[in-house]
Amino acid sequence: MKKIEIKKYLNFLNMKEMEKMSLKKCEICGNKETQLLRKKISWNNNKYGILPVHCCSNCGFVFQNPRFNKNFYFKYYQGLYGQKVIMTKHSILNTIKTQRQRGKLLLKFLDEYLPKKGSMLDVGCSMGYMMKPFLDRGWKCEGNDPFQSYVNYGRKHGLPVKCIQAEDMLIKKNSKDLIIIMGSLEHVFDANMVMKKCEEAIKKNGILVLEARGDPLGPIKKFFNQSHHRYFFGNTMELMMRKYGWEPFLTTKFPITGPSRPGTQFCFGRYKGSKVKRQYKGLIKNGKRETYLDIIYKLKYYDKISKNK
Ligand SMILES: [Zn+2]
Repeated sequence: MKKIEIKKYLNFLNMKEMEKMSLKKCEICGNKETQLLRKKISWNNNKYGILPVHCCSNCGFVFQNPRFNKNFYFKYYQGLYGQKVIMTKHSILNTIKTQRQRGKLLLKFLDEYLPKKGSMLDVGCSMGYMMKPFLDRGWKCEGNDPFQSYVNYGRKHGLPVKCIQAEDMLIKKNSKDLIIIMGSLEHVFDANMVMKKCEEAIKKNGILVLEARGDPLGPIKKFFNQSHHRYFFGNTMELMMRKYGWEPFLTTKFPITGPSRPGTQFCFGRYKGSKVKRQYKGLIKNGKRETYLDIIYKLKYYDKISKNK
């Protein structure tokens, strides 16, 4: 990005100082070569601006490139997360209802894959109500989220939630039967660090649930927005799981946790450790990848179906 373009974006973010941006390697395969997918994306609901999205030429992972450094995001999120989120009684009750319902449906779905009682971690848990159905069943649960207002609310109501960024979480090694990351891995600064910490925390055969934006709900122009540092499709979700030792057993767009988040996709994996990690390296080379053209055609198709809606 040109200096003047960066300045414009920083102005939009209300960040006063000039910051450097640098090109990033693919977070999945480490490849440096990327190709531009979109230059202008959505900055907010009605503003579009330059913030390029690239596709990895090796595996097809889609991500914001260039990006600011860690320090910048730390400053930015400190300001953002420090802001009091306006929570009306109506919005709180609605969020609680939705989170509980999502948790209930997830437990119902996972029932046959899990022990009757176990230990669970929810990364990016908001108020933490998704864990409630598990807690009610006698599970040990813990969750984290960087938004203070949500965490305070959950804690006030007895939920085991900590206000911390996922990269900084301290979880007991080899202690979790289930880890869920529902729509958070796209927003964190360092997805690999978060996955590494999850891997340390999971027990052998433990389950990881990833949920991410799948199909756009409107034209692609709106799909790419500034708060998503990366975009997972089915293939890259599975690659991310395998990189850290989980063997995916289901990747689906079926609304497993109900209708509240239309268009998302899920990937479920079971932790097998080094056996799966060993296979990972050869996978992309042997064809578990999407090309730049695959991604372009996918976006074209999404654009086409969203016009017919
Ligand atoms: Zn890649």
